[in-house]
Amino acid sequence: MSEEVKIQSVEVKGENSGPHLLVTGGVHGDEFEPMATVRQLIQLFQSDDSPELSGRLTLIPVVNEPAYQNSHRTAPDGKDLARTCPGSEEGTITERIAFKFSKIIQSADYFIDLHTGGTTISVLPMAGYVLHSDPEILDKQREMAKAFNLPIVWGTSAEHDGRSLSVARDAGIPAIYTEYLGSATCNKDGISSYYEGCLNVMSSLGMIERNLPENEVKQVVEDRKTESGHMQLSNPSPMTGFFEPAVQLGDQVHVGDLIGTVCNVLGTEKISVISKANGIILTLKTFSFVPEGEGLSVILEK
Ligand SMILES: [Zn+2]
Repeated sequence: MSEEVKIQSVEVKGENSGPHLLVTGGVHGDEFEPMATVRQLIQLFQSDDSPELSGRLTLIPVVNEPAYQNSHRTAPDGKDLARTCPGSEEGTITERIAFKFSKIIQSADYFIDLHTGGTTISVLPMAGYVLHSDPEILDKQREMAKAFNLPIVWGTSAEHDGRSLSVARDAGIPAIYTEYLGSATCNKDGISSYYEGCLNVMSSLGMIERNLPENEVKQVVEDRKTESGHMQLSNPSPMTGFFEPAVQLGDQVHVGDLIGTVCNVLGTEKISVISKANGIILTLKTFSFVPEGEGLSVILEK
């Protein structure tokens, strides 16, 4: 038998009946705003000021503690938890966490998975979901993503497996994920946007009463292309080297525009990375060393 993995969580049961919402951070070990946000939610719902709750909350600040303690996106086995679900009971450390995490997801009625770009990427604040084949689930996900109230709402291909969201997809559980910058910071605005966003979704699900803020959603994009939603593959680096971006998050780019360059140590070899799409820069690699083939930027196409 492999050693059992632990996922530390807090359950909050409301006085009134209602749905069971799961909120998670730390699927990746280097994404800090989600961890801080979930801790704030735990404090709120355990305090005397707790809103009256209908239903049940499961709050997990750090799903992937071995990755967190490894100061890295992944645990020491190098497997990405968001590509390993539903995992296996007897596998490597990440496979076992994936197995346990998948069971927790399957026990919920709704699911919010909080992320950031981690150490090496930055992402425009957004809420995303998969384009589920069941129209009722898809509509619920659209509603949750809009209620979260970040500037971008992005629906992408439902065909990727291994993810927390694919476990929810297969179990028919409406689920969203969110992104807020990254580069291994713990941004205060990120924490407060995430905290407010989770409460907004709870309100939209009828779990708490809340005055909803003004709508901050600026752009809703749904992209059915199979490769959509794959942040690690878009605009792959043409060589291993030093990436110097020519653009910033949120910039408008057109076909043929320079996204950046990748060069060798002395700068004697340099390759330009050119946009093949019209849209805005949704994600950008911010850690300068890049292996060949690694995604440098996702462009949100209009
Ligand atoms: Zn992540």
